[in-house]
Amino acid sequence: MAVHKLPSHIQHIIFDADDTLWPNNYYFVEATENFIRLWVNAGMEEKAARQTFLDFEKKAVAERGYGSANFIYILQEVYRRLSPVYKVPRSSLDLILQNFKKHRDNGPVLFPGVRQIIETLHTTHALYILTKGRHEEQREKIRRSGLEPFMKELFIVPEKDVEVYAGLLTKHQWRPDTVCMVGNSPKSDINPALRFGMYAVYIPYEHTWHLDHDTIEQPDHPQLRYLERISELPELF
Ligand SMILES: [Mg+2]
Repeated sequence: MAVHKLPSHIQHIIFDADDTLWPNNYYFVEATENFIRLWVNAGMEEKAARQTFLDFEKKAVAERGYGSANFIYILQEVYRRLSPVYKVPRSSLDLILQNFKKHRDNGPVLFPGVRQIIETLHTTHALYILTKGRHEEQREKIRRSGLEPFMKELFIVPEKDVEVYAGLLTKHQWRPDTVCMVGNSPKSDINPALRFGMYAVYIPYEHTWHLDHDTIEQPDHPQLRYLERISELPELF
């Protein structure tokens, strides 16, 4: 199938970071699944274990924001609440935490082709990263990714809402149709970008966080492109 290229008047490309440039949520999913298995093995109904985790996670994220420190807090708190009822040794929790921290501290590992794509695109376009989460944690991931020298500017925000996109356009006085957003989240990346008249490239990721799930508002939008993996991005430019 012929690739429907993006127009040459696009000057600015904004990349989401987590689960677009590098896998991130996979490690959260892995830890969560191992954590739930502990309680199921100790006799708890799986549905109840999952619901307990999800309810507490939702509340904790609303109160304390995103990031791995909060995730660790969630695991510890749910453990504290359930362990008087179900016998799960503390060492089992510690093992999950250790494993999770190991990924966090060694990461991020870029998706295949990312380094090459960014190096190439930065010679023709102004590149940016727009990521949500705790400032220091996201800042550190970007620094360690090795991609920072190719970025014109970094935007780290607590939440990627419509105000953020509106603010970017106003602050830089960008014409919306010169901007393209590349990301894995319909809710945080694709819908708001299209709503403001930007172009968008949607690259779904199977382990996208459930709190980030949403549908594409206008799946046939003429300014939207779909890719299976980021390594195909150069075909669009
Ligand atoms: Mg993402």
